[in-house]
Formats: sequence, structure tokens, C-alpha cells
Amino acid sequence: MRGIRPRMSRLLGPAFVAVCGLLVLFIVVDLFVPPWRSELPLAELEVPPSSRSLPAIPAEPGAAAGRSVLLVTLDTVRPDRLGYHGNSNIDTPALDRLAREGVIFSQAVATAPSTLPSHASILTGLYPQRHGARANGSSRLGDGVETLATRLSQQGYDTAAFVSAFVLDEQFGLSRGFAAYDDDVKQSGAEFGYPERRADLTADRAIRWLERSRSTPFFLWVHFFDPHALYQPPAEFARYPLAYDGELAFTDSQLARLVGAARTAAAGELLIAVTADHGEAFGDQGEQTHSILLQESTLRIAALGAGATRRIAAGFRCGYSDTPSDPLGEREWPLIPTPLGFPPSTP
Ligand SMILES: [Zn+2]
Repeated sequence: MRGIRPRMSRLLGPAFVAVCGLLVLFIVVDLFVPPWRSELPLAELEVPPSSRSLPAIPAEPGAAAGRSVLLVTLDTVRPDRLGYHGNSNIDTPALDRLAREGVIFSQAVATAPSTLPSHASILTGLYPQRHGARANGSSRLGDGVETLATRLSQQGYDTAAFVSAFVLDEQFGLSRGFAAYDDDVKQSGAEFGYPERRADLTADRAIRWLERSRSTPFFLWVHFFDPHALYQPPAEFARYPLAYDGELAFTDSQLARLVGAARTAAAGELLIAVTADHGEAFGDQGEQTHSILLQESTLRIAALGAGATRRIAAGFRCGYSDTPSDPLGEREWPLIPTPLGFPPSTP
């Protein structure tokens, strides 16, 4: 026993130096020498007038109670690159249609420029210091923290999630409450250092799940990872000068398939929420991707909601920067829980 402690401290020293060295190397690589280096100044967001042609779901708690819910999270989507926010050089018809039919949260801000912490906030309505999943790969959702899935499964919903990158693997806790959690992502290689699955393969699996017969409403969460670096769209989407835009257009094409299948499965009784987890810097302040600096290009996100056959009336609070609350207070995302009629979660 006496010899173990000195040996451990001898080992811990080099291990600490190695971890610090890797961290510094990662920051240097991201800030200075990425092979995909490019600059993309943040554009002004345009907010198109909503069509207002559909009857509205009133903005009162419980107005959409009992509806099935489709939550789609788009990894690394900067809103100013999308068609409905003013980029006329891209085809994102599925998102544009949802924007016309629903409500756009033009000031939505992520709780962290990083995938796991931000997704944990989307699913719990809590800041990272409360939900516990503070960093990719090294932390997990805190014990006992409720998620949308735990809430909805308690209400009898059929629940499932399909994620597209290892960073959301089951071991990090976001599977809590889902009856099915598909994190089998080793199908498209490891573009950014960890396994991921292309959007068409993830959509295929989610659509198969939607086609099952069921007698209860469903809660389906689907995560698409393609817009994340490296930017390598499929050949039919390689026409865009910016490969990132090609990834966005490809992801939108799979969103269209998914929304169509969800609408069919829900027979018109569907609440749709689409949100990014964070943006992308593209040279802003010298950062190329995201997760290191806190800045508008990486924190501002695309977010919108729609009904299947009705628009959502303005008035449902988004909970991010659309909520004029204490900036350090809790930030629920009541786009889903408020229309469904259940109170905010508590940690
Ligand atoms: Zn992400």
C-alpha cells in the first residue's frame, strides 16, 4: 500500500500533462490550422411574414394536449444560411414550409456551443450546470433529471429517439425515458473523430419506426449530424459553392421525408419542433467550427415549430433568448410542454 501512492502520483503527473497537451493541441488546430478553413461573415437574419393561411393552435397551455410530437435537432445549423432566413442561394424547402406554417424563433440562442450540453438543455429545459451534461464525452445527464421523454412516457406516449453521432450515445444519459434509443451510428465512418450516421440512414430507421401501428400518441426525437464538419455532402448536393450549404440542403431533404412520414403516422395531430444545437463560426474571431468561443455565430440557432395541419399561434414562448428572464435563471423550452399542457420540469 505504501508504494502505491507515490507510484500513482508519479503516473498522474504525466497523465495531467498529456491531457493538457491534447486540449491545447485541439484549440490550436481549431483556431489556426484546420484544412477546411474558410470565412463566412454572419448575415442579418430576415424573418419572412408567416402565411397565416392555416387555422391557429391558440397560444394557451394545453391547446395541443394529446398530440403526437416530432422533435428534430439539426447539428451545427447557423440560421443565416437557411432559405427562410434570407439565404436565396440554397434550397431548404422543408424548413421553409415549416417556417411558413409555424412560428419562427428568430432570437433563439443555445445554452452551449457544444452538442451534448445543448441537447441536454433541449430535452430538460435546464442550463448545463443544472442538468449535469456539461461537456462532450466526459459527463452525462445528472441522476434523477427528468426529460421530455420521461414526462411524455408517463403520459402514455410511445417514445423513440434516433441519433446520428457518438457524442449522443446512450451512455451520456439522453436516452432516459425513451422506450427505444437508436444510437447505432457506425455506418458512415468517423468524419470528425467519432462515428456518425448520415441523415438518410437515420431517417430510414425513424420512418420504419413511425410506420408501426400504435394506438397512443408518439414522441419521436431525431438528430441529424450532417452539417457538422467535415463538410462532405452527397454528390447530388455538391453543386453548392459552399459544401456546408450542400450538407444543409441534403439534411433538409431528409427532414422532408421524416415530416411527411410523421404527419401520416399522427393522422394530422402532430406538433413539430425543429431546432439546431449550436451554430458554426467559419472564421469568426479566428474560430473555424464551434465549442471553444462564446459568440453569436456559434450560439445563435435556427428554431421553429409547427402543427401538422394548423399553425402555432405566436405567443408560445421559446425559452431561449425570446424569454426576457433572468439570464442565469432556468430556461424552459415550452414550445413542446406548454402546448401539451404540463408544467415546467424540476431537477
Ligand atoms: Zn452539435
